[in-house]
Amino acid sequence: MRSSPESPFAFAWNEWYASVGGRNIKIKEANRILEDIKQYQYPRFEGVVNKKVTLFKDPIEAKNRVKDLVLSLGAGEVGVALIEPEDIYQGREIFEKYAIVVGQKMLWREFSKVPSKKSAIECLKVYFTLGEIVIKLAEYIRSHGYPCKVEHPVGDSDVLHIPLALKAGFGELGRHGSIIHPKMGPLFRLGSVITDLPLATDGPIDAGIADFCDKCKACRIYCPAKAIPDKRSPEAGKDHLGNDRYIVDTGKCFPYFAKNNYCSICLPVCVYNHKEWARDFEGHKTGLFPDVKMLEPPEPVDPEIRKHWYPKINR
Ligand code: SF4
Ligand code: SF4
Repeated sequence: MRSSPESPFAFAWNEWYASVGGRNIKIKEANRILEDIKQYQYPRFEGVVNKKVTLFKDPIEAKNRVKDLVLSLGAGEVGVALIEPEDIYQGREIFEKYAIVVGQKMLWREFSKVPSKKSAIECLKVYFTLGEIVIKLAEYIRSHGYPCKVEHPVGDSDVLHIPLALKAGFGELGRHGSIIHPKMGPLFRLGSVITDLPLATDGPIDAGIADFCDKCKACRIYCPAKAIPDKRSPEAGKDHLGNDRYIVDTGKCFPYFAKNNYCSICLPVCVYNHKEWARDFEGHKTGLFPDVKMLEPPEPVDPEIRKHWYPKINR
């Protein structure tokens, strides 16, 4: 299946960082984890497919087996979506029908001060542990006789994780452009495995998050780059529930996070569901609202290849 003419291009991160004067982020531990991902995980993306094919009773049983495995490996959420051309990056082609989307939570307490090295490291740690989960899931699928492909949370993915996760029932898009999960909130990362193993699919959910976002503006108030919009943008198309989308001005956001430990302020300040999702104190001294440091933002930069519809909000 080929991408839709409407699909966005995969974002050329390295070129883009170069266009804003490079990343001003030097964190030894984060670099070490990235190196570990390249060295220990990338070579395990491929594997031998068992010649003996296991026949599951039906696609529901197959989905349940896959989900049980993924949750036992430490994921916070897993769902299955049918892949459509709009879910594939522009110019790419895939041969698999289903995406098993996996989410893993980041620890709230690591985001209690933002931006910070601690929050950037937590993000990388979860990229690694989530990477292990999707690799083990791929090994499981191959061991049952079905080919599949790992779409690691870090790296050159062929599919768009966010629309697939929305179709797989992960939650709703928040004003800040990240998915808000009814239990994990917005502090989680996504990876997936794509396969032809016949699986029952999940559906999108309406958890009342869109209505909540329309009344709350915490992320907008605390965004130092003023990249988060006041209103929805009818020109930007509908989300999976038929609402006009909120569009973050990435030309303002990206230069800021490239200079400030990947920023992330909009995630821990998000107040969805009274922060039920932030309850991971486990004896650690922390509050429900982070310590936020807001600096003067750099000039906006508009990349030549746009990641998605690009509104230049409040310019
Ligand atoms: S990451 Fe920072 S700059 Fe970007 S939208 Fe969130 S708060 Fe704003
Ligand atoms: S902070 Fe408020 S407006 Fe922003 S995404 Fe969270 S719930 Fe929505």
